[in-house]
Amino acid sequence: MINLELPRKIRGLTQQAHSVAEQVFRPISRQYDLAEHSYPKELDMLAAVIDGMDAAVEHGSGAAGVRRVEAGDGGGAVRNGTNLSTVASIMELCWGDVGLLLSMPRQGLGNAAVASVASEEQLARFGHLWASMAITEPECGSDSAAIRTTARLDGDHYVLNGEKIYVTAGERSEAVVVWATLDRSLGRAAIKSFLVEKGTPGFTVERLEDKLGIRASDTAALRLVDVRVPRENLLGSPEVHPERGFGGVMQTFDNTRPLVAGMAVGVARAALERTRELLAEAGIDVDYDRPALGQHAAAAAFIAAEADYEAAYLLTLRAAWLADNGTPNSLEASMAKAKAGRAATEIALRCVALAGSVGYGEGELLEKWARDAKILDIFEGTQQIQQLIVARRLLGKTSQELR
Ligand SMILES: Cc1cc2nc3c(=O)[nH]c(=O)nc-3n(C[C@H](O)[C@H](O)[C@H](O)COP(=O)(O)OP(=O)(O)OC[C@H]3O[C@@H](n4cnc5c(N)ncnc54)[C@H](O)[C@@H]3O)c2cc1C
Repeated sequence: MINLELPRKIRGLTQQAHSVAEQVFRPISRQYDLAEHSYPKELDMLAAVIDGMDAAVEHGSGAAGVRRVEAGDGGGAVRNGTNLSTVASIMELCWGDVGLLLSMPRQGLGNAAVASVASEEQLARFGHLWASMAITEPECGSDSAAIRTTARLDGDHYVLNGEKIYVTAGERSEAVVVWATLDRSLGRAAIKSFLVEKGTPGFTVERLEDKLGIRASDTAALRLVDVRVPRENLLGSPEVHPERGFGGVMQTFDNTRPLVAGMAVGVARAALERTRELLAEAGIDVDYDRPALGQHAAAAAFIAAEADYEAAYLLTLRAAWLADNGTPNSLEASMAKAKAGRAATEIALRCVALAGSVGYGEGELLEKWARDAKILDIFEGTQQIQQLIVARRLLGKTSQELR
């Protein structure tokens, strides 16, 4: 029999995450949506609590929890490890507020990137820093192979030059994982990631964006002019193997895409739960024992949205579970991200519609969740790019053959 319940050993953690979402995030959710660019200071105290939770869990429980174990660890037994527990707690926290989750100190996508590709020695040096992740440039978004930021070896340092845009937590983080090319003529294999600490000369925050959603989270444009970082700050291997393509840095996405899918699942559940309450207040019952199409149209639409949510939830758990078990999960990570990003966007908007004018107003958080959800279908690879990756994997095509 397949058991689709969350394993008991991670339920304590998810309950803690849910309490944080309910008692800390929800009460300040609207406040920081309206006050874009002001730092949610309530998160500092919370970050200390989460650091304590991290210390109690093998390999950490937050963004750092995505570190991989080798296949076969555990004597052949399947594991429910930190990828699964991280994704499950992120779902809970984003049920509270996704913008605030993205503003949590030391829980940046850069932290997950460090955990994914750093050596043990680098993890010891950088693991305590709050790290954001800078891939996107003015001339490079979906096609990350087009990165123009350069890294040139000069003695014991790399010298970085370039411009990065749309960096989540780019202003507030203490360090940034910057993707740059060692040699543009060698193509995607020469793209590496570098940890650049704030305060390094030549590294500046140029501006903050005003956004549709996740307004509690800062989104920054960064400039690098002759920024020198020790050569030990290159994450992963400095070797360039053109025959292996993008391997190294792309590995990060296998771990971070399930996290973003988890964020989407959390927002979708928040919208569904509140809508269910509003429907009940309006006297509309949702009855799972009767065919959906024989019920009130709103109840039928709600049941269809819940089915979409379940599919996104299960795909996301599967992608994280595969990572815990040292199994390749690029296909499943993209499937989860594509399904969850699309489902959250559609579900949140449908919930706004089902709640009518109440759903559209600021008296409820439904309209905010509809705005917040959209980014989850864009960053860490858009809907279209995830579908492209899934198609390539299923059809056995290369990125040159199908683009
Ligand atoms: C709020 C916010 C936060 C962000 N945070 C970060 C961050 O922390 N770090 C970071 O590096 N980036 C971040 N991004 C950038 C984000 O990852 C990019 O916006 C995204 O990758 C898309 O790139 P683009 O905007 O250049 O769009 P483009 O790549 O120009 O794409 C435009 C449209 O064309 C579609 N498209 C592109 N290529 C294809 C194709 N081959 N087939 C079909 N359709 C295609 C895309 O899906 C999209 O709909 C953030 C963006 C936002 C808005």
